Amino acid sequence: MSDTIDASRPVPAVPDQARGMLIDGALVEGERFFEVIDPATGRAFALAPDATRTQLDAAVAAARRAFPAWQDRSLEERREILRRAGARLREEAEPIGALLTSEQGKPLRDAIGEVGRAADQIDGLTALDISDQLLRDDGRERIEIRHRPLGVVGGITPWNVPVVLAMVKVAQALYTGNTLVLKPSPLTPLSTLAVAQAIADIVPAGTVNVLSGGNDLGAWMTSHPGIDKISFTGSVETGRRVLRSAADTFKRVTLELGGNDPAIVLADADVEAAADGIARSAFANCGQVCMAVKRVLVPAALHDALVEALARRASRIRTGPGTNPESTMGPLQNRMQFNKVAELLDEVRATPGARIVTGGTVSSNGGYFIEPTVVVGLSDDAPLVREEQFGPVIPVLSYDDVDEAIARANATHFGLGASLWTRDIVRARDLAGRLEAGSVWINRHGGNAKDVPFGGAKYSGYGREQGVVGLHSYMEMQVVASPSLSAERAADAIPPLAR
Ligand code: NAD
Repeated sequence: MSDTIDASRPVPAVPDQARGMLIDGALVEGERFFEVIDPATGRAFALAPDATRTQLDAAVAAARRAFPAWQDRSLEERREILRRAGARLREEAEPIGALLTSEQGKPLRDAIGEVGRAADQIDGLTALDISDQLLRDDGRERIEIRHRPLGVVGGITPWNVPVVLAMVKVAQALYTGNTLVLKPSPLTPLSTLAVAQAIADIVPAGTVNVLSGGNDLGAWMTSHPGIDKISFTGSVETGRRVLRSAADTFKRVTLELGGNDPAIVLADADVEAAADGIARSAFANCGQVCMAVKRVLVPAALHDALVEALARRASRIRTGPGTNPESTMGPLQNRMQFNKVAELLDEVRATPGARIVTGGTVSSNGGYFIEPTVVVGLSDDAPLVREEQFGPVIPVLSYDDVDEAIARANATHFGLGASLWTRDIVRARDLAGRLEAGSVWINRHGGNAKDVPFGGAKYSGYGREQGVVGLHSYMEMQVVASPSLSAERAADAIPPLAR
């Protein structure tokens, strides 16, 4: 782990690339500001605008004004504008990526990659067919299923993958004919503001509004009468608050929440291949991924081999500041998360029978670094197993038979994802049906294409995003029932667009 920190302390200022909030097509400077911390140093390096309630009202009003004209644009036009925004992100990937590394911590290469992936998300989502459907026209009655945009969407995002998550919300809201007010996490506001600044001359005024601010800004949005839907990505605890707050105005709500995904290695698994996939998932983005593997269940006979294979991979990771080209893992994103993972490690050290096989080092130099860590010997009620660690520390647990493994995998309120690692795909597909999770992957963990719906079972979510199902959750279904149409009139009766 690199322990050196540049002592020259940048004076917090508003970065050029995130000069203001995007409201009604204009960059609006803040009236008040909050500090943004560089997690590699633990020090403030920039200021971000802290939106007032009046600024939120202005953004919602702009989004409402922009809505009628935007929903009247053809699907092709909306797709074309969004793809141009994606192309702009690809052009600006380096500077936006640099800002993302400064505030989020991930290695620069990954940050630039995230901006490119955000553009890919736009392409993938706007390739989906959301046109209306004909349920039947049987000579007697004709039933059409149409989908109409909801109006103004409020998007609220977390700090782990801020650019991708922001653009997934922009693409879903706008492609389906809605307008958007978007709020990034106060811990990573700058990269989202920079994205807004980059696409401000491409998206029509008022269709995308981006405001930074604290948690109170999120709460104002979820109760705002001018917002019709909330698309929220974040923790279970906040998700519960969002749902409660949205109830008064009957907002449509989609919640993408936390997880405690199990990876279940079966007795016939290829141990090296399983270790590859599990380590990649558990340590990506410093373990701060909703659908990362967060606990591993392995048959007793394979336990030691798998632990050794995971430890080998963990020890190859180079932890250090994201700006150092040699770092393959950055710091945790914030002090609270760092303290949480450090405490989980303290609890492991205090647990008889538990052992840190590799890693375990926690930096004490102001940056939020924790080495990739593999832990064995914990019971299922240990906090590291029971809770969402959201950090690069993975517990490996052994089991005796598959029924027991499935029951232990399900013994949680979380239900985001799960994976099975085996050579017997047919058997794994059967077992998948017994797992209480929104997604079950066989011989991989995560990595869905955009036509695949994503979301959690149980406390891990509410509804689905992405895929046609996800896009339709940004729309109100409307059934149009009429007497059957004659053959020649039926040919062009269904509008080709989702209106
Ligand atoms: P968080 O819930 O603390 O914050 C998320 C967002 O909600 C932030 O923008 C925050 O300012 C805002 N917020 C806070 N209080 C609010 C309130 N009362 N009303 C409205 N908004 C409010 O989550 P986090 O710590 O930023 O993110 C980490 C969590 O996100 C983890 O649990 C992770 O698993 C989850 N996550 C889930 C997915 C998914 O797709 N399922 C993806 C990424 C992250």
